[in-house]
Formats: sequence, structure tokens, C-alpha cells
Amino acid sequence: MKIRAAVLEATHGLHHMQVLDLAPPRPGEVLVRLGASGVCRSDYNAIDGTTESPCPVVLGHEGAGVVEAVGPGVTRVVPGDHVSLSWTPSCGACEDCVRGIPQLCATVWPTMDLAGLMDGTSRLSRDGERVYHYCFLSTFAEATVVPERSCVPIPKDVPMEVAALVGCAVTTGVGAVWKTAGVRPGDRVAVIGCGGVGLSAMLAAMAVGAAPVIAVDTTQARLDAARELGATAGVLWAGSPEATAEAVREVSSGGVDYAIEATGHGEAMQAAVLSTRKRGTAVLIGIPREDVVLTVPAKTIPRMERRIIGSIYGSAYPEHDFLTTLNVYRSGRLPLEKLITHRLPLDEVNQGLELMLSGAATRVVLDTTTQGAS
Ligand SMILES: [Zn+2]
Ligand SMILES: [Zn+2]
Repeated sequence: MKIRAAVLEATHGLHHMQVLDLAPPRPGEVLVRLGASGVCRSDYNAIDGTTESPCPVVLGHEGAGVVEAVGPGVTRVVPGDHVSLSWTPSCGACEDCVRGIPQLCATVWPTMDLAGLMDGTSRLSRDGERVYHYCFLSTFAEATVVPERSCVPIPKDVPMEVAALVGCAVTTGVGAVWKTAGVRPGDRVAVIGCGGVGLSAMLAAMAVGAAPVIAVDTTQARLDAARELGATAGVLWAGSPEATAEAVREVSSGGVDYAIEATGHGEAMQAAVLSTRKRGTAVLIGIPREDVVLTVPAKTIPRMERRIIGSIYGSAYPEHDFLTTLNVYRSGRLPLEKLITHRLPLDEVNQGLELMLSGAATRVVLDTTTQGAS
């Protein structure tokens, strides 16, 4: 079939809308008619070369849609199901899956680098030339073919734009708080970096009764956005990790139980560790560049029983955790729709990326169903 998709021709380039060929789903694969796609920082990593990605490629890894057709042997979904898409279609059989950490599946991560589906090949092409997939999903398009295990059926009353965000930013932030850290009522929490992931973490902390919940960022606009969502206090980056942590300790009466770091910058990670009180935990979500080294005062680790833990994709088991998150959202206690500051047609993906980079947007969502002029 023919689909319209935003194609990145080369690293450092812009997206152009093109008509591509999308091959039918093979065994274990599903054709999804997309409803919405979020624009995520990780998409930009493929554009600026932070992560190597072969081109031409269709990016986008935060999507939701409706199942249109299934390949042979597919049992999890049927045509008509609404699905939120997971970019870790864990194998369920490797040692990591069996020991309960499917987000670190030993099969998925090396396979993702092949920029195809689970067998490494593409369903996307143009005039016979291969077009690469991204994170198995390629959601900057009208439709996509994905692994069956990427498809998580969701209630039909969930808006597509919210379901899309649950596919990446929301799960990364919410899962870090609920699953990786296990934040409890009354815990003091600081969130460093108030983009889509950080604010998702903040909403999750507030939903379980953490208090205070302190937002930390380098821009006042983002702190204002965090305050509007309910943050107890906002701390502007004070020029150094030490000064910033000092300010966090001051507004939290001596330090936090959990400092959630969502930027991936070394200094922000340092500030996270220094913001914690005795028995406090720095939860590192942001993915740093290859060469970043984290330096912390070692003595305080045993003397204060400080902890430093990592979290990828919110330690999530998407098939279970997407639904938990959406059920709390449906109850009204997790207002995820408030994360969406900009809605654009798919054709305006370049503007969407710009809005994200400028810090003007918390989350940009593309409507993948609208027909543009091109
Ligand atoms: Zn993402
Ligand atoms: Zn596995």
C-alpha cells in the first residue's frame, strides 16, 4: 500500500513529506493506522547524529493508532483494536526477559540498531529503495507495520494523543517514579529537567501523594509550566550543581528522598545526587552522551546511605504498565493531556521539532490523520 510519511533524507537534514510503499505485515507483525505521534528528544538524537541512524528513515517512536490488519500467527490484537505502541517489543525468552526486566531485553536492543523490524528487514521502501524504520515504530507516518509485541491494546475512550505519549515520555517519567523508585506518599521529590519526561514524573509523584514536589530547570518558562501543573516550588538552575542542590535542600527542608534527573547532563546528575537527604536516591533517566562521567562526593554515599539508580523506559513492562498508567489517567488523577502544549499536522514535523528544541513546548503531538498540502 501507499502511505504518506515524513522522511529524513540524511543526518542533519530536514523532514520531507513523501509517498512510500508499505509492505503487508509478515508473521508476528501488525499494520497500524496511526492516529497521533509525539515528538520526542530521542527523535532529534537521530537527526543531529547523537545516535547513529541509517537514512533515509521514518522517525517517530511515540505513537498510537488502530489495528488495520495482522500478519500470520498474530494473537494479541485484531483489526479494530486501539493500540499504544511500545518501542521495546521484548522477546519474552532471553535471560533478561525471564528475570523480569523486559525493558533491557537482550534481543530487542541489538535488533533496534538494524533499523528494521525484528528480522532486521524493512517494510518501508520507495521505488524499490529501502527506507529504514526507527525504534521498530516509525510513527511520523499515516500508517506503519510494527512487531506484534509493540502493540498494547488500550480502552477506546482514551484520546489518541494521550495514548501516543504513553508510548514514550509518559512511561519513561511515570515508570521511573512508580516502578524504578517506588515513590510513596509523603516522600519528598525533586524533578530536574521539566520537559515531557520530567513533567510526567512530576505528575506521577503528585498522584501518589509525594510532597513537596520541586521542579528544577534552567528556564523560568518551564518552571512556570511545572508550577501550573502543581509543583510545590520551582528552583532555577543556580549556575553550578552545588548551588542548585543547595537551593533544592533549602525548599525541601534539608534534601529530598528522590531526585529524578531527566536531562542527561552530567552537572544535572551531580545536582540530583547532591539534592538528596540521608537514604535519598538519585534516579537517573536522561541518557548522557558517551563521554559523560559522573563525579560525586564518595564519602556521602556510605555516610548518608545515598543511592544512585538508573531507569530506562520507566522500568516498564508495557503490556501491563501502559494500562495501569491509562487507568489512573482515566480516573482523573494523572492529567496527562496537560503535557500537550502544541498540536500540529504531520506535515509540520519540522516546526514540531523546532518547538521542542527551543523549550517552548512541553510536548508536541502530530496529528497523523490530517491531509496536508504536499
Ligand atoms: Zn522518546
Ligand atoms: Zn528478551
